[in-house]
Amino acid sequence: MAPVTIATQTAKDMRVARASVSFNVETVRDYLFAGRPNWETHKKIEDILKSDPVFDKSQSNFIGRVDAYERALAITKHLIELQRIHGWSKQERDQAAFVLSEVLPIGLHNVAFEPVFLGQASSAMMLEYWDLVSNKGIQGCYLQTELGHGSNVACLETTATYIPETQEFEIHSPTLTSTKWWIGGLGKTATHGIVQAKLILPGGEDVGPHLFLVQLRSLEDHTTLPGISIGDIGPKACGGLAAMDNGYARFHHIRIPRANMFSKFAEVTEDGRYVQPRNPKHSFGGMMYIRASMVTTAGWTIARAITIAIRYTTVRRQGERDEHGLERQVIQYPSTYYRLIPILSRAYVFIVLGRQTMKEFTIVRGHLDRGDFTKLPEAHAILCGLKVLVTSAAVRDLETARRALGGHGYSAFAGIGRLYADYLPAVLYEGDNFVLDGQVVRAAVKAYRASLSTPASPLGAHSSYIRLLKGENPKPVVDTTTWEDSDAIICLLEWRAALVLKGFVETMDELDANANQRLSKAVTDAFIAVQIGKMITGLDLLPRQEGDIIRALHHLYLLTTAEDALVDLFSTGLLHQSGDRKLRLAIKHHCALLLPNAIGLTDAFSFCDWALDSALGMSDGRVYEELWRRAQCEPLNQLGTTPGYYKSLRPMLQEGQKLTKKVNSRL
Ligand SMILES: Cc1cc2nc3c(=O)[nH]c(=O)nc-3n(C[C@H](O)[C@H](O)[C@H](O)COP(=O)(O)OP(=O)(O)OC[C@H]3O[C@@H](n4cnc5c(N)ncnc54)[C@H](O)[C@@H]3O)c2cc1C
Repeated sequence: MAPVTIATQTAKDMRVARASVSFNVETVRDYLFAGRPNWETHKKIEDILKSDPVFDKSQSNFIGRVDAYERALAITKHLIELQRIHGWSKQERDQAAFVLSEVLPIGLHNVAFEPVFLGQASSAMMLEYWDLVSNKGIQGCYLQTELGHGSNVACLETTATYIPETQEFEIHSPTLTSTKWWIGGLGKTATHGIVQAKLILPGGEDVGPHLFLVQLRSLEDHTTLPGISIGDIGPKACGGLAAMDNGYARFHHIRIPRANMFSKFAEVTEDGRYVQPRNPKHSFGGMMYIRASMVTTAGWTIARAITIAIRYTTVRRQGERDEHGLERQVIQYPSTYYRLIPILSRAYVFIVLGRQTMKEFTIVRGHLDRGDFTKLPEAHAILCGLKVLVTSAAVRDLETARRALGGHGYSAFAGIGRLYADYLPAVLYEGDNFVLDGQVVRAAVKAYRASLSTPASPLGAHSSYIRLLKGENPKPVVDTTTWEDSDAIICLLEWRAALVLKGFVETMDELDANANQRLSKAVTDAFIAVQIGKMITGLDLLPRQEGDIIRALHHLYLLTTAEDALVDLFSTGLLHQSGDRKLRLAIKHHCALLLPNAIGLTDAFSFCDWALDSALGMSDGRVYEELWRRAQCEPLNQLGTTPGYYKSLRPMLQEGQKLTKKVNSRL
């Protein structure tokens, strides 16, 4: 028999892990992709992209910002060419961008510029610009944040002053702090921008921030138009978003026509009168779209990281030897699978939740377009809560997954470091998470007070847990069966939200500093738990084996949410002394139960090696061969003796040797 080398063992471990999967991976894959046809579209697009040299990823870890930006532009151009060649719909184009998963400056055009146009442009503006926008004849960005203000939009300083004589707006940045800053796609790419500026009427009245379309660069030679200063703001933390040209802009009394105000809901008449929006929150529509899409993005980002982590920890052996003389697979350690399997459950829940959220958002969007804003406050509160919860969880999970890889997790070839660096700002863009917590809390307190009034206002989906506080509902009793029963945990999480809210309202005269965060988390955990209840019911449509495995994942999500909520469960009296032990054992039991299927559950995400781009996430388990191969591509290894040797290292070595000789000669 041939001796077992580590390399052949890793491939064998992967084969054995796949062989132990007890469900049909393709059925679960189709569930994740919301149906076989969607997966087939995904696969068709992936096959086109992965064989195309423009989308080669092999040099990504070795290039600097300038090359990364140039590469991103080449990719963008080619993607749009392919869209035309293959006649891709908008949905297929978005699918291609998703498959590619590269940071592209055009991203902001797709997720911010286009939706704001669709949601807020007047019909005249749509007629003039929409074809250019949708055909990428112009490139857009969204300029809201300034050097001095981001979260507090009301204090933005950029002005848009209406001049009735010429029927123009004058856009101006009066101070250094009014410089637009952080704007994705602005530094080098965008030709046009949607600028958030304070609207000043002819009499000097400031009616607050509104949106204006401003051309930034020439469509002939891309030079910056007169009166505007633009640049890139420089490198970002952890080298993240390197290919994205986050930029700054200052406006020096530049003029735009009156028609360039986004005036679907509010406008300025020719003679300078302000026509009020029917609902002052009309501009929330664009942000809502981005926040809704962030749930799905979080799910798939976690899915990437957990695929890498579960594959690698399945083939990585470390520690005590078994009867065959093999060290233990590190995923078999309870402290490893306890970290990883719950992450897998979050990927599944967020992917499905993201889909549901997008569907709900599309309905709300329809209402808004018809001028019906009744559903807006609740949709806003839900999306704020979801955005906070999924992005915070994803940032934490990416780092947990990376650390589970041990030393090799710190290699760029592992692939999670780059994912983390690129994903990290999701907790602050589209609303800083701590600021958004305040919005969730405000909605919860308002709903609670309204529920106490006579006649009581009906409770929406986001606040239905408040019903538990009405009448004489007894608190649920937690016993040995609770942790095996998804409905019981959902009920417990709703009770926790209700009691944390009640406690919050009762102590509003002196809240502790973290009260908003705890209440926001409790409310959103309860909302997601109820959604999971619906997901579990929907699983009846799947074959039993596959339905059971996803049910177990969803149940694990609920268990780990309860674990995360332990302090609240104790402090609200829902759980009593040592009540946590059974919960912790249930988590261990469920993780161990899911462990033999972990590789199958990650395979169902359907990442090919090209898409995952990770030496440690190789689907065949040959991680060491791939680490070795990639290390050979390191540019330092192509140099032989480096120029730095002659300039710095050799003189230093020679000086040290000379000094040593001198000392020795004195002895
Ligand atoms: C990678 C990246 C891309 C971006 N892209 C764009 C873009 O394309 N267009 C655009 O317009 N902007 C963009 N931004 C800006 C982003 O939207 C803002 O940075 C974000 O909204 C946070 O605002 P801020 O920077 O003003 O933070 P600040 O509000 O100054 O926050 C600083 C600290 O104060 C706390 N804080 C602030 N206000 C409150 C409050 N009311 N209650 C409690 N705590 C508070 C925050 O929690 C935070 O810890 C981007 C930012 C990044 C990092």
